[in-house]
Amino acid sequence: MSTPTKFLLDESKMPTHWYNIQADLPKPAPAVLHPGTLQPVGPDDLAPLFPMELILQEVSTEREIPIPEPVREVFRLWRPSPLFRAHRLEKLLGTPAKIYYKYEGVSPAGSHKPNTAVPQAWYNAQAGIKKLTTETGAGQWGSSLAFAGALFGIDVTVFQVRVSYDQKPYRRALMETYGARCIASPSNETNSGRAILEKNPNHPGSLGIAISEAVEIAATHDDTKYALGSVLNHVLMHQTIIGQEAIAQLEMAGDDPDVIVGCTGGGSNFAGIAFPFIGQQLRGGKKRRIVAVEPAACPSLTRGKYAYDFGDTGHLTPLTKMHTLGSTFTPPGFHAGGLRYHGMAPLVSHLKELGLIEAVAYHQTQCFQAGVSFARAEGIVPAPEANHAVLGAIEEAMRCKREGKAETILFNLCGHGHFDMSAYISYASGQLVDQPYDESELAMALAGLPSVPA
Ligand SMILES: *Cc1c(COP(=O)(O)O)cnc(C)c1O
Repeated sequence: MSTPTKFLLDESKMPTHWYNIQADLPKPAPAVLHPGTLQPVGPDDLAPLFPMELILQEVSTEREIPIPEPVREVFRLWRPSPLFRAHRLEKLLGTPAKIYYKYEGVSPAGSHKPNTAVPQAWYNAQAGIKKLTTETGAGQWGSSLAFAGALFGIDVTVFQVRVSYDQKPYRRALMETYGARCIASPSNETNSGRAILEKNPNHPGSLGIAISEAVEIAATHDDTKYALGSVLNHVLMHQTIIGQEAIAQLEMAGDDPDVIVGCTGGGSNFAGIAFPFIGQQLRGGKKRRIVAVEPAACPSLTRGKYAYDFGDTGHLTPLTKMHTLGSTFTPPGFHAGGLRYHGMAPLVSHLKELGLIEAVAYHQTQCFQAGVSFARAEGIVPAPEANHAVLGAIEEAMRCKREGKAETILFNLCGHGHFDMSAYISYASGQLVDQPYDESELAMALAGLPSVPA
């Protein structure tokens, strides 16, 4: 091949700062509200859950926030991550488009999640915190925080959504290998878990419920704080190291993307690749199309309501304005567990409202089909979540083919699927079905949204 396939940044070029898009927004995102008073929450309201450094990052409007050196030192285990040009996929599709992908599966946990798990654990350790609680769906976030906790001497307790706990024993084994304790949610260890189990002892669980359990433990124990793997402003900001590296790597390649694609569960890997590029545009740079791809079975951005809602099912969190399917909505048990969340990051939702990003939704079988084609052409087996981004990029490449346009497409390959091979087995044996979400359950969940005066 005449042009290079792999673009590697030198360690010395790894970003020194996170990019905070709140500095460049044409209009600030709506305030986070206290559910009781409906007044904006202040740093003190969040102090039982998070260390002050992270709370300050959450509300900061500084454009650049330095990455602490001990955090960068851990990042050097796998960062800068590679950028690839997908020559063989381009050829397979017969597209005039150039396709690039940033590969985050090189991290120890196999996804982008350690990019925020490591700084979150570090800031907590700096604040003298000894225990962290969290939730996990498929187990990507739980294993990332377990890894980060092991590095900085923090005990990690993970509430894992019941269906995933049963279906994915290897992710649980990974968490336990890193030293974390893993509990199936809903559990008997919290009031919110017990309340759910009383109504339905066989409840499959959901991210919303697992968040309630983890938050409840942190809120009621002085030595324990809570860590969230997506959705929050500071989490999205930690992921911007992805897009900053991609900007430098595409410069090496002599290219500039016209379209950027990412999958969205809570919105963090999408924000990670897209926000640095959107920031360039907001400061007067090139306008690009930015496409968020979500599962058709849990379509918060494309079918949800932009409204104030709780982040959890037990209603322990503050209210944020976001695209939501309702905090009591239980998404069907499709295979991209990391995308089964009822809401969307407030910053991603805000950008959607401002018309700065687009969103599409695809069913899981077509995503797996795209993932298998990608694996056969490029060698990497994507995580089921990442298959949504793969399909989004392929759809863009096929549009370029129809329109005869040689556009440049960049997508985030946010993780590998080595722990998700049971999903690939289901796909290969024809057992994967496309589950539409339940319209009546969605209507009920949306009817239950908290009422917040405009
Ligand atoms: C957790 C996860 C997601 C979804 O979370 P975002 O915050 O939307 O990025 C997507 N892909 C992978 C591989 C994940 O582990």
